[in-house]
Amino acid sequence: MSDGIKKPDPINREAVQKFREQKKKILRPEYYIKGILNHDRTILSQAITLVESSLPTHQKIASTIIEACIPHSAKSLRIGITGVPGVGKSTFIEALGKKVTGWGRKLAVLAIDPSSERSGGSIMGDKTRMENLSQDPDAFIRPSPSGGSLGGVARKTRETIILCEAAGFDTIFVETVGVGQSETAVHSMVDFFLLLMLAGAGDELQGIKRGIMEMADAIVITKADGANVQKADSAMIEFTNALHLFPPAESGWIPEALTCSAREGKGLEAIWQTILSYTDRTRENGFFQLNRDRQAIYRMYDFIDETLKSDFYIHPGIKQKLEKYEKKVLKRELSAYQAAQKILSGYRKK
Ligand code: GDP
Repeated sequence: MSDGIKKPDPINREAVQKFREQKKKILRPEYYIKGILNHDRTILSQAITLVESSLPTHQKIASTIIEACIPHSAKSLRIGITGVPGVGKSTFIEALGKKVTGWGRKLAVLAIDPSSERSGGSIMGDKTRMENLSQDPDAFIRPSPSGGSLGGVARKTRETIILCEAAGFDTIFVETVGVGQSETAVHSMVDFFLLLMLAGAGDELQGIKRGIMEMADAIVITKADGANVQKADSAMIEFTNALHLFPPAESGWIPEALTCSAREGKGLEAIWQTILSYTDRTRENGFFQLNRDRQAIYRMYDFIDETLKSDFYIHPGIKQKLEKYEKKVLKRELSAYQAAQKILSGYRKK
């Protein structure tokens, strides 16, 4: 390289300055709060990204944003939707979602899919899901936050609900896959819990545990079209009978079984009507509010649990200690219990 030629400045100083300004803007909570309360979806998305971020600086402003949004939240109807992969969740959500926005409601669709962390891919599919609904100006679709434990993912979704409500969304769908613990997490953040089932597949086959059926406020047999109509109808009768055998729910509501074809748009109004009847009934008898109050208490404990756990794991030196004691356990020098005690007692002294 010749020394005689003046090389251009490799740094684009103007861009750097702009980036710094942008960064400053990102760190001002007022920007997000104002944007959310003005129902700005782009800013809502940016704020959700902060909620999902694990960077302490992001988390700090996320919590300021959430606090400011709380008084503007809680006015929506929160509906949990679960079912095994392939049962037709996204088709159903898209079909019902289009109806719901057609009736003048504003819908946010959120998801909890902890598998996306473990397997590197999501059970709930790719971006092509719900293509129609994603173009609807009254719908906002946000995929599952990834990263961390189910507890962490659920907390982020709960906080995202608050932001969406403050941004004017009056109907929230929280979708999850019926294969693990995530239903319980979703159940703890919604007013109404909908279980989607296929006709003709045994319960085991569908991976649905009895406990999940007991959580359901309604069971919908999907794909009730074509040659499947009769099977769906008899499954509906079976489920109706099964649901009647459960002990009466505290809500005073007897869960219903219904059929639907999302593909043909059949049965959607009846499902929505069921949801509205449930909310009318439980608002009248006080259960609706009682349930939300309990969820608030649950959130408090959950937040404490999560914070304690993450404080512990990010504490300086803990990682090395864990590695050291893992080896000791593997060499049988200490029992797992003794090793845990030693690590914890060292942490508590700090
Ligand atoms: P998810 O994995 O639970 O989200 O299920 P999808 O919505 O992706 O649907 C799984 C498969 O079932 C797809 O091939 C859909 O086309 C099909 N499907 C979904 N809803 C219906 C329906 O109402 N009728 C019929 N016949 N097929 C459906």
